[in-house]
Amino acid sequence: MSDVRELEVSAPHRVPAKITGVECVPLNVPFKVPFKISTGAARPVVETLIVKIHTDQGVTGVGETQAWRRQGSAETLEGQIDTIKNYFEPQLLGRSPFDVNAIMHRLDESMYHSHYSQAPVGDALYDIVGKMLGIPVYQLLGGKTRDRVRIAAVLSMKDNVESLLESADALFELGFRHLVLKIGVDPREDRQNAEALRNRFGNEIALRVDANAALDYDTALVLLKGLEPFDIETAEQPLAIWDIDGMAALAKAVRMPLMADECAATDHTLLDIIRKRAATSAQTKVAKNGGIYHIRRLWHLLATAGMGINPGNHPATSVATASVAQMCGSWPGSLMAGVFAVGVSGALAEDIVENPMRPENGEIAIPKGAGFGVTLDENALQRLRIDK
Ligand SMILES: [Mg+2]
Repeated sequence: MSDVRELEVSAPHRVPAKITGVECVPLNVPFKVPFKISTGAARPVVETLIVKIHTDQGVTGVGETQAWRRQGSAETLEGQIDTIKNYFEPQLLGRSPFDVNAIMHRLDESMYHSHYSQAPVGDALYDIVGKMLGIPVYQLLGGKTRDRVRIAAVLSMKDNVESLLESADALFELGFRHLVLKIGVDPREDRQNAEALRNRFGNEIALRVDANAALDYDTALVLLKGLEPFDIETAEQPLAIWDIDGMAALAKAVRMPLMADECAATDHTLLDIIRKRAATSAQTKVAKNGGIYHIRRLWHLLATAGMGINPGNHPATSVATASVAQMCGSWPGSLMAGVFAVGVSGALAEDIVENPMRPENGEIAIPKGAGFGVTLDENALQRLRIDK
């Protein structure tokens, strides 16, 4: 703790900036078409929280999180606003936005398991620092390692194979070569869908499947064995988030790599996955994993363990998409084609920035502007906010 206190005292003298307020803007961002995965009904909107951190220098940083109530989280927008306004903001006021590590360390210690609420706060601090220094966040994270990053597209569940292939064709046309098929409701349909996609695209695509934690061990074993002929790149989170031992057993039993997503929530759960060899890759998400400050730790752990890094996200606006792009843009090692841009690749009907991020040929260009490199569209925020 002494090191942290020292930082708290010294940093404001070095950098003449103070945090003056934290503003929460809750939004309902609509999907273009209601989005269906294994569990629950199709979703019409993403419950999104935009956090603005204001400073006495007139520079404002922006971060994004979302409220999900499935797959290991129990978040509400109201709960996140309560945490941020009543517990985090008092710890931020008067501090230098440059004290990212000290602030985030303190927030993490002050409220257990609050990564969803920490994400937009930490990310907004990186955005402020970048804007004040006039450099992109990738520069703060150690400098640029790539100009573009390849991404994967996610196929929402459809009523029949024809409409699934139709949506896959559209994504292929846009240049995507990595497709994620949602599975976990009906094993027979899952097999038909995988077979249809492999027949349609041959070896031109990498095909991933994602059960979003919906399967029990026996069903997953039979289903994944049945999918082996279709050259599955990796099977994402087949089992419940608590069944790390089951994932480890499954990983030995099937001839395809497993990826952890929902069960990789914190550095401690990731360590458990690594120790038990329950997966050989993991997906991180801005909201689930607590934004740049925490996700970079997970990426270092994954790289150290020789595991694949899937730069992911919940379906998000350009704000959280830019956060991941900045991390990718500064990451020196290899990355899987991640799904971090699914929100801006056609899943969401609206965006909330003036310069939306757009995939080109299945890739995202790393934004070059200061901070995250995106500018909020205040009219869109007014239109979508649910607290007016
Ligand atoms: Mg997933």
